[in-house]
Amino acid sequence: MDKSGDTGVILIRSEELLNWSREKSLWPLTFGLACCAIEMMGAMASNYDLERFGIFPRPSPRQADIMIVSGTVTYKMADRIRRLYEQMAEPRYVISMGSCSNCGGPYWQHGYHVVKGVDRIIPVDVYVPGCPPRPEALIDGFLKLQEKIRTEHPLLGTKESVLSDDKPAESDDLRLRS
Ligand code: SF4
Repeated sequence: MDKSGDTGVILIRSEELLNWSREKSLWPLTFGLACCAIEMMGAMASNYDLERFGIFPRPSPRQADIMIVSGTVTYKMADRIRRLYEQMAEPRYVISMGSCSNCGGPYWQHGYHVVKGVDRIIPVDVYVPGCPPRPEALIDGFLKLQEKIRTEHPLLGTKESVLSDDKPAESDDLRLRS
């Protein structure tokens, strides 16, 4: 519709329309594990206001399509994380937020109780480096995920063939510890 009020016609492929609606309505599971979760909550609050991107936290995995793993993944929690992931409907996505979730973080060497990367128990789509990452970094992770969804086939899913962030090099995470 232009300023005069005349309506027009928009032509768009159905795949693009579906992908557009999916990428603009990402609903993360309300779920935090450790200190990184505080930054995640900060990103949801009024200063950063993730809702302007259509990102709206949900209290149940059955209503969520994205999991933000924000914090230290202990072996005790690993089963619970896997179960929550499996309760989410397809298509579902995972953002690994922070060094702990990416590779074990400060517990990488001596943390016998810590899983050395959440991707050992569930597939990860985007890695956000940092200890902890700032809310801006999480927002960047969401933008990367939106790019990825934009290139997927909405029905077939082409996770392997689309762009995603590389997992940060182990040395990056080690550097963050010093
Ligand atoms: S990466 Fe750092 S800030 Fe995040 S949970 Fe681990 S120790 Fe805490």
